[in-house]
Amino acid sequence: SRKFIVGGNWKCNPASMKEANTLLKEWKKSLPSVDKSKVDVVICPPALWMTTLSPAIEALGMQTCAQNVGKNDAGAFTGEWTAANLLDLNIKWTLIGHSERRTKYGETDADVAEKVAKCQEIGVNVILCIGETLEEREGGKTDEVNKRQLAAVIPKVKDWSKIVLAYEPVWAIGTGKVATPEQAEETQAAIRAYIKGAVSSDVADKLQIQYGGSVSPDNCAELITKPNIDGFLVGGASLKPTFMEIVSKVG
Ligand code: 13P
Repeated sequence: SRKFIVGGNWKCNPASMKEANTLLKEWKKSLPSVDKSKVDVVICPPALWMTTLSPAIEALGMQTCAQNVGKNDAGAFTGEWTAANLLDLNIKWTLIGHSERRTKYGETDADVAEKVAKCQEIGVNVILCIGETLEEREGGKTDEVNKRQLAAVIPKVKDWSKIVLAYEPVWAIGTGKVATPEQAEETQAAIRAYIKGAVSSDVADKLQIQYGGSVSPDNCAELITKPNIDGFLVGGASLKPTFMEIVSKVG
């Protein structure tokens, strides 16, 4: 059976590091309600704050995760950081391919694949984000889009123990329109079936697949009962003290 994993993707929030520290202090009060043998938690703060906040995140029994990483090694790449930079600072996780990177910064499937390859080479754990837009869902293309995004990455992966998937339908992100448990389960079961065929049943059985998109303390309990939902990637609700309710409902 797969261990649950919950991510808190803060995106470019909160507005100040002071507020971030206040939030972490709030979470500390709820810690006794979390069973860490059942759930891992990774927190993705804005990059500039990662190393400063990391000790406080680790003191909560959580791990720090970058929101993005460059595909290159050290060199003339203004504005980037490398996978090796992350490990050098003891940051062992990164998101790759978040839909905001894909849609707002033009990241292609090929870029995402190169980033994953670099993390595999260096030994950084990846939460790989995939998911369809509203237009694609309404056009019946959901499974096709997820498969295309995965197919780009699969040849780059040698060590699947360092990969977690996050299925994040773009229409559910930041909209308050959470996928129904049935929609999320159906799509994530199709993702797992695809991995089984394209990689192996052993990898498919072990691979953790998070659901992301408008997850909240109110809707997480039913989602987590579904067999192919192994945790969540939480945006807006991870900026609140009540994020810990999500973590404890999962664990
Ligand atoms: P929301 O939870 O705010 O919808 O964001 C989801 C997300 O993009 C997490 O990566």
